[in-house]
Amino acid sequence: MIDLKELILAKDNLIPLLRKLKKEARLIAPVKNGYGDTFFTEISDLDTTVIDLDSQPQSSLKPFLLPQQETLAQYTIDKEEYTFTPPEKEQATIYFGVRSCDLTAVLYTDLIFSKPTRDSSYYARRNQSLIITLGCNNPFPNCFCEATESGPYLEYGYDLQLIDLGDCYFVSAGRRKGADILERWGYFFREVGEKDRKIRYQLFLESRGKFTRNVQVAHACRRLQQHPVPETIWEALSRRCYDCGGCAYVCPTCTCFSVDDMPLNKTQGLRLRSWDACTSSGFTRMAGGHNPVDRRQHALKRRFLHKLKDDLTLHGKVSCTGCGRCVDICFGGVDITTFIHLITAAEVP
Ligand code: SF4
Ligand code: SF4
Repeated sequence: MIDLKELILAKDNLIPLLRKLKKEARLIAPVKNGYGDTFFTEISDLDTTVIDLDSQPQSSLKPFLLPQQETLAQYTIDKEEYTFTPPEKEQATIYFGVRSCDLTAVLYTDLIFSKPTRDSSYYARRNQSLIITLGCNNPFPNCFCEATESGPYLEYGYDLQLIDLGDCYFVSAGRRKGADILERWGYFFREVGEKDRKIRYQLFLESRGKFTRNVQVAHACRRLQQHPVPETIWEALSRRCYDCGGCAYVCPTCTCFSVDDMPLNKTQGLRLRSWDACTSSGFTRMAGGHNPVDRRQHALKRRFLHKLKDDLTLHGKVSCTGCGRCVDICFGGVDITTFIHLITAAEVP
């Protein structure tokens, strides 16, 4: 009997399989735009769109599962009584070609939006999603997922995980929805052989040896648990932060948001949720204009301590997935790897 948890998909069968899946769900995959930048994009036609599995997508799944701005509900006021109407039902969506770091970020976001109660808006989308990941055989220059235990391959969390073996993919099902695909479209697959397993393991070892950045995440976490961060480090970093919000916006695990009511007329309006960023000066500004946090000294404190210290204490895992996007985007050069380098190199007080 065929083991439905692991099968081999010939590369020639990938598009025919996606074509079948696309008949029943929206398909989102990495696509290079006209400027040469790769983003997760909805595929309308698989015959005319080339899926780009060679570049790191500049965006993660965050804009889809937690949109930059979304309507949580429409409200109506009648004699000072509010009635809320939630948005329409979400569409079934398949996310294909998702990297290990970005799936790890989705698992973290699942956790954040499940407590103290399940966020109905987030879970309406999440429950309709099916995620097919692609393990990384060639980590990108700024990646350090190995140091955050978020890759290059994953052991759980995906619906399906693909590993490129050259002329075929080693496909593993991690959840029921993924196993259903292997079962339903079994004629696209063949059984895994001993040689396939050996190649996969060899590629995994080679991938781990290809990381070019040595980011000492575990060392930094130990330091943060045991010693306060010297104020000089916060000051040095904050001086180089220009409050652009770029790092929080590209980061797949930054989930801060604000909620506003936008009146449409005297009796109706929209309750909106929009991304916010703890690095922004307005994040802690109070009514009347007073800001209890001195940005010049502490602009980045919440962001870095939240990811490397607080989440480790709360959830047993850091909430940086080593995707490297903040390294790419910060023109002040004060991304999380700079912070890790500074605290691991600093003298213990
Ligand atoms: S750390 Fe860099 S990317 Fe983030 S807000 Fe400051 S300048 Fe912008
Ligand atoms: S902090 Fe930087 S490297 Fe870590 S997950 Fe966020 S964007 Fe990626």
